[in-house]
Amino acid sequence: MPSGRTHDRITLWSLPVIVGLSMLATRNAKITLLLASGYLFSGLMFGPDLDIHSVQFKRWGLLRGIWLPYQKKMRHRSRYSHGFLIGTAIRVVYLLVIVGAGVGVGGAIAHLLFDLPWDWGQAWQQSQAFAQTHALGGVALFIGLELGAMSHSLADWTGSAYKRWQRRQRPKSTPSTPRSRKSTYKRSSKSKP
Ligand SMILES: [Zn+2]
Repeated sequence: MPSGRTHDRITLWSLPVIVGLSMLATRNAKITLLLASGYLFSGLMFGPDLDIHSVQFKRWGLLRGIWLPYQKKMRHRSRYSHGFLIGTAIRVVYLLVIVGAGVGVGGAIAHLLFDLPWDWGQAWQQSQAFAQTHALGGVALFIGLELGAMSHSLADWTGSAYKRWQRRQRPKSTPSTPRSRKSTYKRSSKSKP
């Protein structure tokens, strides 16, 4: 499995390619900015490795605790964290629920303590209206997040496949004969006090 630093390098080196392809496909700087931001965010701190105590997890700083329930539920490198589309979709929904709950609780506390106006129905309507007017930007952001996650998963799978291939090659170059096993046993029994 590639290290966190390798994943970071892959994200940063491939960013110009993502920007170039997005500009070619959309001819829209705003959409490209959103897609590239999603790609960077996903590659550096919103990627599949949030399912373990990883560099991505640590980058959330004081907020890292919000990912602990996610880690408890996710088996490392399962398809629900590393899989195509589903991994990003689950993380986005998870984060939206947390942010929604945080805003809701914050609003309710502000309402109680400072008598600030807070209307659940109005807040829901406003968030829906925001989502509708920014739907295209949301899609671009999601595509960026997914591309960032897939660059990670592809690197993981390639690294694992390479290690498996290396393991298969090893026995051919250093065959373990019964004679060598016997001598190893003798050596180890000798070393005992
Ligand atoms: Zn991973």
